Amino acid sequence: MATQLRLRRGYPAFKCAVCGKEETLSHQDGDTVNPNIPGAETVAGGLALSANGHCYYASLNVYLCKACGGQCYIVDLCTLNAPEISEDWADTYFMMNNRYPETPSPFTVICPEAVSGIAAGLWTLDRMETAAGTFDRHNFGPFATNENLIGPNGVANCMGGAIWQKAAALVEKVWPLITAKASQTAGA
Ligand SMILES: [Zn+2]
Repeated sequence: MATQLRLRRGYPAFKCAVCGKEETLSHQDGDTVNPNIPGAETVAGGLALSANGHCYYASLNVYLCKACGGQCYIVDLCTLNAPEISEDWADTYFMMNNRYPETPSPFTVICPEAVSGIAAGLWTLDRMETAAGTFDRHNFGPFATNENLIGPNGVANCMGGAIWQKAAALVEKVWPLITAKASQTAGA
């Protein structure tokens, strides 16, 4: 039987992964993560990919802590439970180039199976019911990093490094869990 994810309403404030203080992280920059998802096809004019009846876009976002100056990152996996989307939709919801028309609902995702790199099998989720379907932004982290992820051109996947491979591996690991039918319904 497939692992079933459970959703609990709400989630706590993000904590700096270096000093542990809450709500001190300031977003710097981010770039696309390229997980190897079997059967993925390009959609929305190249802004997103589609597999298992879901469109998706994964990214890694770097934050600096206002309290300790430490660097943290969050891996975001955005999904829509529909196989195709328009460029406009992807631009708004996946690229965040426009203000969201809906207010996201916060959830904690509880994964009964250990996922490497995710403490206690928990992560956070922002969910919106959009005209195109259910849009989920899964947030993994914040994680501390010893690698400096901010280069001369900002945060760029092409700089390479273990963190980018780790981020892709994490998305590959959770992908079958979050696209399984059972995880589509919000529990209590
Ligand atoms: Zn800190």
